[in-house]
Amino acid sequence: METISYQKEVKANKEHRCNFCCEKIKQGETYVTSTHKQDETVYDWKTHKHCSEIADRLKMYEDCDEGLTDEGFQETIHSEYFDLLVTKFSKEDVAKYSDVIQQLRNVRFKDKLNYVIRHYDPLTTTPNAQRG
Ligand SMILES: [Zn+2]
Repeated sequence: METISYQKEVKANKEHRCNFCCEKIKQGETYVTSTHKQDETVYDWKTHKHCSEIADRLKMYEDCDEGLTDEGFQETIHSEYFDLLVTKFSKEDVAKYSDVIQQLRNVRFKDKLNYVIRHYDPLTTTPNAQRG
């Protein structure tokens, strides 16, 4: 995969779909886009700003020679979410609450993503930080 233009932030003039989480990017929302070329096909990769940020944060791009795919992104979020939750339980509790933990695996991807983003967002972990 070849990168033709690197990530830039643009405002959506119409609705798009995020290439990472597959949720809508709303009209008027700022999103991240880059242009790539693979096998003579040129395509735009459009993602939510928060999806691009969490991918960076979790260094998802590092092990992807062929570029990070939606599958790779979602897999990392699933496992990250699960790791974050399981660390809240002691070993005995993991055994005891295995059904609960199993249920937690089944939550919607969007909710997992939000959970992981909240966990890593420095603005939510340091309440006094200011945006801008
Ligand atoms: Zn997204």
